[in-house]
Amino acid sequence: MKIHEYQARQILADHAIPVPPSEVVRSPEAAAEAFKKMQTGAGGSAFRCVVKAQVYAGGRGKAGFVKLVKSADEAREAAKFMLSHRMVSNQTGPEGVPVSILLVAPGVEIAREYYLGITIDRTRAAATLIASAEGGVEIEDVARKSPQKVFKESLHPTLGLLPFQARDLAFKLGFKDKLASEAGRLMLNLGKAFIKMDASLAEINPLVLTKDGKLLAIDAKFNLDDNAAFRHLDLAALVDESQERPLDVRAHKASLNYIALDGNIGCLVNGAGLAMATMDVIKLHGAEPANFLDVGGSVTAEGAIEAFRIILSDPNVKGILVNIFGGIAKCDVIAEALVKAGREVAFKIPLVVRLEGTNVEKARKILSEAQAQMPTLQTATDLTDAAKKVVAAVA
Ligand code: GDP
Ligand code: MN
Repeated sequence: MKIHEYQARQILADHAIPVPPSEVVRSPEAAAEAFKKMQTGAGGSAFRCVVKAQVYAGGRGKAGFVKLVKSADEAREAAKFMLSHRMVSNQTGPEGVPVSILLVAPGVEIAREYYLGITIDRTRAAATLIASAEGGVEIEDVARKSPQKVFKESLHPTLGLLPFQARDLAFKLGFKDKLASEAGRLMLNLGKAFIKMDASLAEINPLVLTKDGKLLAIDAKFNLDDNAAFRHLDLAALVDESQERPLDVRAHKASLNYIALDGNIGCLVNGAGLAMATMDVIKLHGAEPANFLDVGGSVTAEGAIEAFRIILSDPNVKGILVNIFGGIAKCDVIAEALVKAGREVAFKIPLVVRLEGTNVEKARKILSEAQAQMPTLQTATDLTDAAKKVVAAVA
């Protein structure tokens, strides 16, 4: 589960990590008002604010969706631009994401930008804090070009990040004296936030050292583990569906694991491993899958029908391959769903079905009886046969 920067900032603040004050706005006028209010609080003619689009993607700075403004008018203009354009960055894909929420915060005078992020390191099999004094930019680039500038410490599975690890990292980033202990404490708090929130990612990029010598988190990103969403219902309630692709939202609601891809053969499979194998076999026979779709082990007829609807709402799909190994999911349930879906959506494109396992005989009977009303339906004896048939049908 993704959340917005303004929500992530609140998590940091709740864990005693210094974050500049900010306001969430949804209109150009409100952005101008926020600027005026913050200027009055701060005083001085050199005062600046930063206006930031709240989207579930990074790379906003380069895309022009993080803007420093010197007046209420500039704040209004920046907000107007952001709210009327989709943001396209290297993290969004060419269609970009819509912007409906903005964050306004007093601008910070930056002396240096650092990177701090905790995520699961699968090689170490541990949550791992990644730190670098080369922050602000993409950490992947730093890791590629100068890996010696990226430092890592894994969190202890029950104790979390330990003080000596945080101190060690703080010194490696070049902090000294009081700042070193401040940076160390900040890392320990980030470690606590990561555990407390059941996060899969907790990132501050950049953490800045201001010109007057303070440490501040000026960007924050948290991804939360979906399996723990029930422990964070307040955040789950605030999920911004406008940021997700509509088909992903539908699939999620139906408990389907769906990922859209670029090919033209839609796949409906039970089990992630079988879904991967199905995609491989489609590729082996010279075509490309339009999606990964694992309907899960205990799929119901309703779930399967929704899966067909989702596959068919992708205009690139020219044929469908259904590959079911009936274990907990029963072949006849899938076959019934297929026939029901056929009545509802009237498959106009080739549909190749390979079923094996529990109740397969019953399923075959259901399908052969339905074949009269479903002229595009073909059955297959095994996966290779199925892949060959669907690839030939769309060629
Ligand atoms: P991202 O591009 O989506 O990661 O958005 P960030 O919030 O990280 O902002 C991108 C960059 O804008 C930062 O790395 C900073 O260099 C700059 N920036 C953001 N906020 C401020 C600010 O308050 N003052 C100054 N001077 N620069 C800022
Ligand atoms: Mn950032």
